[in-house]
Amino acid sequence: MPGQHVKTHIAMIVCVCLCLLAYLSWFSPEPDLSTSAPVSDSDSATRAAASEGAASGTAPTPAFVPTPDPESKAGAPAPDYDSAQSLTVVVNKHRPLTDRAYVPADLADAAGVPLRAEAASAYLQMSVDAAAAGVGLTAVSGFRAADAQGLLHDSYTTNYGVSTAEAISARAGFSEHQTGLAVDIGNNDGACSLQSCFAATPAGAWAAANAHRYGFIIRYPDGAEHITGFTYEPWHLRYVGPDVAQKLFDAGITLEEYAGLPAAPGY
Ligand SMILES: [Zn+2]
Repeated sequence: MPGQHVKTHIAMIVCVCLCLLAYLSWFSPEPDLSTSAPVSDSDSATRAAASEGAASGTAPTPAFVPTPDPESKAGAPAPDYDSAQSLTVVVNKHRPLTDRAYVPADLADAAGVPLRAEAASAYLQMSVDAAAAGVGLTAVSGFRAADAQGLLHDSYTTNYGVSTAEAISARAGFSEHQTGLAVDIGNNDGACSLQSCFAATPAGAWAAANAHRYGFIIRYPDGAEHITGFTYEPWHLRYVGPDVAQKLFDAGITLEEYAGLPAAPGY
């Protein structure tokens, strides 16, 4: 059957051709991609470098990452206990104001007495809130210039003697009243004015429980004379700002202890 033979022959030729094509395509060389396009951007260069690293069995070198500075992570600057203008300045018998003639530039009225603007604003809000709670606060004394402080100290010395005067009154240049951040408060009726019994009066009790919420601390707490240099003055409030005041209130410590400064029982 010649027809059948021809068909078989053609089929064999086709099969051989297909096998030959398959053979040739199997061994044809890969196109040279390295010359197909120039590397023209950093992203391509990065990929090329990573490919080289993988090909040689080494991990690609990561980009340089600077180590964070632990100091810079602290964020907030350290409190300033030295500058007269600082809300956290520490003035005591070891630490007079460096400028004896210092007068705050931003004195404002705080219900009749001058205080630094921020302290005055805080005092007024505190006074309003105390009144709303049924407690009347009176501002007795605020900013005091060095000369006025000197006269006051002299009068205490004359009236009560040196020892008592030093325990209840600062010398000129050593009073935080000169910073404009201290305010002596009283009751509206004057009960126990500037006396330790003030603590048990409505104004004294309310201030002890609430003044810190407005940024004030009782600067000369009971039993801390060996640190602060002054006897208990439940009427003498010092503005340090709400954050610091809250910390001192919670810890029950003096400003000297909070600042890590030495005790200042005397000059
Ligand atoms: Zn005072």
